[in-house]
Amino acid sequence: MRAWHVEAPGPLASKPLHLRTGPVPRPGPGELLLRVVACGVCRTDLHVTEGDLPPHRPGVTPGHEVVGEVVALGEHVGTADTAGTAGTVGTAGTAGTAGTAGTAGFAVGDRAGAAWLRWTDEQCRYCQRGSENLCPHSLYTGWDADGGYGEYMTVPAAYAHRLPDGYRDTELAPLLCAGIIGYRALKRADLPPGGRLGIYGFGGSAHLAAQVAMARGATVHVLTRGEQARRLALELGAASANDAADMPPEPLDAAILFAPVGDLVLPALSALGRGGTLAIAGIHLTDIPDLNYERHLFYERQLRSVTSNTRQDAREFLGFAGEHKLAVTVHPYPLDAADRALDDLENGRFDGAAVLVP
Ligand SMILES: [Zn+2]
Ligand SMILES: [Zn+2]
Repeated sequence: MRAWHVEAPGPLASKPLHLRTGPVPRPGPGELLLRVVACGVCRTDLHVTEGDLPPHRPGVTPGHEVVGEVVALGEHVGTADTAGTAGTVGTAGTAGTAGTAGTAGFAVGDRAGAAWLRWTDEQCRYCQRGSENLCPHSLYTGWDADGGYGEYMTVPAAYAHRLPDGYRDTELAPLLCAGIIGYRALKRADLPPGGRLGIYGFGGSAHLAAQVAMARGATVHVLTRGEQARRLALELGAASANDAADMPPEPLDAAILFAPVGDLVLPALSALGRGGTLAIAGIHLTDIPDLNYERHLFYERQLRSVTSNTRQDAREFLGFAGEHKLAVTVHPYPLDAADRALDDLENGRFDGAAVLVP
């Protein structure tokens, strides 16, 4: 099979990615083998490729927004309790049974999604309290294990996702990271019902989070440098769309920073009303300049990070997407053009989400 590999992480100009032919992986115990039908291109792939994130697996294949067809099952998959458990796949998560718990329900021929969170120990204090996104032993798709920039990949069945109906494969892919992370960021931003939400940066994740917020009655103000992105924001129903460092037309109850630009933390905090929360959605951010306590934090404004997601976040978001048809702006690229897709992402040449189609 063909797959892209990060040979030596570095700037895209140094050609860190190589397309190579190799064997189809074999699913281990508890794993599904997926034939990749679509894989979203996420900013985190750029961080893995360029080395902003330290390499975890030499020559890794990036890609963690994977829509696949199950073509083979590893040992212990689907052996327990196969009937009537489709909606509960991956929910068991009980300690000591990692790899086999909740894996029932996937069969050859099914559609399955693989997302960023690939595995957790299900035993540490964070996992035990429902914060598996903070598990210090967690493994990630397309960083610790090969991801979807290839024709096949494996995923632990307990961490694979059922996909909502009503979407094309290319539309489903961005839901699996952009959508889920945007959803978690929205939760972390603590937006009150009917509140005013500011969204800084308007790419794949932001345009989905904005729609979830608006479907729940929020007023959304978008602040982004891209003119196309501002147009898309208004088309989707945003109340205003301005340049990234502008002030929104009214004070915000909550804001989410999607752009990986630390400089924007200051204007975003300044735009918050009293008691407002700013959630930073990215896995990587340039340095935040000096904060001024009175101007940026006083009146109980809060600054929060967002780290990965739990499977519960994924289930909630994918369930929401099944009930509310989200408009997913997709730019398909052939698998061969993964390097060009990343370059276009880095240079902001499209709005919405790029998706590789093998
Ligand atoms: Zn854990
Ligand atoms: Zn991602």
